[in-house]
Amino acid sequence: MDNEYAWACECGAMNGVLALEAAGINRVVCYCGDCQAFAHYLDRAEDVLDDAGGTDIAQMSAARVTINEGLDHLQCMRLSESGIHRWYAGCCRTPIGNTGGYGMPFIGVIGAKLITPGDADDVLGPVGSKIQTGSAKREIDGAGGFPLGAIWRFMRIIVGAKLSGAQKRAPFFDAASKEPIVVPVILDEAERTALMAKVAAA
Ligand SMILES: [Zn+2]
Ligand SMILES: [Zn+2]
Repeated sequence: MDNEYAWACECGAMNGVLALEAAGINRVVCYCGDCQAFAHYLDRAEDVLDDAGGTDIAQMSAARVTINEGLDHLQCMRLSESGIHRWYAGCCRTPIGNTGGYGMPFIGVIGAKLITPGDADDVLGPVGSKIQTGSAKREIDGAGGFPLGAIWRFMRIIVGAKLSGAQKRAPFFDAASKEPIVVPVILDEAERTALMAKVAAA
């Protein structure tokens, strides 16, 4: 049986439920420049990123996320035409998570902001791996490549979600059109360059 965890953006206008079971979650800290850029885009670098620029991400089937209230605040941005979809609550610029397109029904929930501080380890399980550490702001202990266990858990989430038809239940894409339910803002070259300069200067 899944555990249900109530999530909310910082101001509370957007909220919903995460249906969680530990086996279905792959929790990582990602240090990549794009994740850092998203935090800077939201003007949230100080509360989203750790002291090395890492984002706490819980990868799971997108169907595990339910939005109960405040859907009209949902916003989406992409760093480029081919960038992943980065979702946030526009009311208070709280990051929600990152998804692929309709056919990739997973989400990397940015749990650090949606989960009550102090609850994350209990709710999401321990951080399994640290990824993209080459882009971290300092040397990371125990850094390596992308560990096989994490890749395996990630693949299981995707395959499981596809087999169960999870993309039809996930809240971020319209099942009929396969398009995101809000039109993403896509950064142009100048906007992206300016944002990356902020990441580099941080
Ligand atoms: Zn809010
Ligand atoms: Zn990343």
